[in-house]
Amino acid sequence: MMNSTLTENFKQNSKTLIFDTTILILRTRNIDDNIIANCVDTLRNLFIDIRIDVHKDFVEIPEYLLDTYRMQYQAEGVAYFVSRNFHDDHFVIFIADVDAYVPGLNFVFGIAIPSIRTAVVFTYRLKLFADYERFISRVRKEVVHELGHLLGLKHCNNPACVMRFSNTVLEVDEKNYLFCDKCTTKLTNMGFKLRKISP
Ligand SMILES: [Zn+2]
Ligand SMILES: [Zn+2]
Repeated sequence: MMNSTLTENFKQNSKTLIFDTTILILRTRNIDDNIIANCVDTLRNLFIDIRIDVHKDFVEIPEYLLDTYRMQYQAEGVAYFVSRNFHDDHFVIFIADVDAYVPGLNFVFGIAIPSIRTAVVFTYRLKLFADYERFISRVRKEVVHELGHLLGLKHCNNPACVMRFSNTVLEVDEKNYLFCDKCTTKLTNMGFKLRKISP
């Protein structure tokens, strides 16, 4: 399975996924247990039959991934770093309390690279104009959003859908942590079992 292509990974056998749907969650030191528990609960609420593991050690992002001129981390580099070190056959979501960018954008809230089944949520800017509760709510939305990309979803133009692209924290606040009906149907067609939750 490790060397198979993305298309092969999504091959279905009578609507049963044949690849490992375990999600491994990793974090940097400043992401506390409560945030992780909230994200795990959110994912367990959304998906039936998904296994979630939380890596026990904190991940330290190597210094070479910091752009010292911008004082921001290279988002893709961070994703490839965690993938190289922690990815096996499962999905990886790394919650990193740093600021990051991709070339051409001032910053990103997260990045998902489906070919390596690895996503990173960068929480630094999610703290803007937020108390702790709001911060957690934003982190869980971005975790679901990036996982949606890993599972093959693109951005959605439904303003309430978690797959809507957010350019600002206000736009993160406006959307829900749930997939809209259209995105839910796409995931169901891929073989994922989702719980019916009303907003
Ligand atoms: Zn996105
Ligand atoms: Zn949607």
